[in-house]
Amino acid sequence: MLTEDNYYDNDNHWKYMSVSQFKDFMSCEAKAMAKLNRAIPEENTEAFLVGNYVHSVFESEKSHETFLTNHESDMLTKAGKTRAPFIQAEKMVERLKEDDFFYNLYKGEKEVIVTGELFGTEWKGKIDCLNVEEGYFVDLKTTADIGKRYFSPRYRKWVSFVEEYGYVLQMAIYKILLGEKYNKEFTPYIYAVSKQDPPNVQAIDFVNARFAHELEYVEQNIEHILKVKYGEQIPTPCGSCDYCRANKVITGFTEVEELIDR
Ligand SMILES: [Zn+2]
Repeated sequence: MLTEDNYYDNDNHWKYMSVSQFKDFMSCEAKAMAKLNRAIPEENTEAFLVGNYVHSVFESEKSHETFLTNHESDMLTKAGKTRAPFIQAEKMVERLKEDDFFYNLYKGEKEVIVTGELFGTEWKGKIDCLNVEEGYFVDLKTTADIGKRYFSPRYRKWVSFVEEYGYVLQMAIYKILLGEKYNKEFTPYIYAVSKQDPPNVQAIDFVNARFAHELEYVEQNIEHILKVKYGEQIPTPCGSCDYCRANKVITGFTEVEELIDR
């Protein structure tokens, strides 16, 4: 049984597919496997901690207190002052607290675990805010700049942070898992808050056509990913991520043409 306490246990990463694991495999199979095999340390990046700080506030008072206790050393300088990213995190929290639209939307059960079978594997997901009665869920996202554009090799065009970080895919999977569990249609929303000073905020929705496109993408890739995950196929190194750079062994020459993605 998947619970809050064992959700991130390595056994459950082996047992379940998740959106973040799928994204790991899509970006680098070698690194994704190293992560599963615990051959590389867990990534507790600052961006990740700032996100967790903001989430914990809106989950419950108790969650926020636990976060503050567990990450005291991450948040303070040697002189005992709050480090800049966490002063910023608090500004993001304050910005959301004064936002009536957010206040009215972010109502429901927090950090809800959902599991279900999809494309030949068991998935797990965690919903930031689930409102079963009204049939919607909200994912709270912290991002550098809500309007920033990224060139995406996957979409072959300029995209927003929502597509770049695979959040449409995440919403599509959660929508299906919830739909199966509760036998009703759910509408996904993203509430974004930026790391700018002052922070920007945005309530984001989706046209339904986006989800079919994302599910098709998962369907096209999941079979191969599962084969790699369970040892039937050898993981391919991407050649450019931190893991690949650190483990690169040169065995020959590369022609100029092969150096960049086109
Ligand atoms: Zn790689």
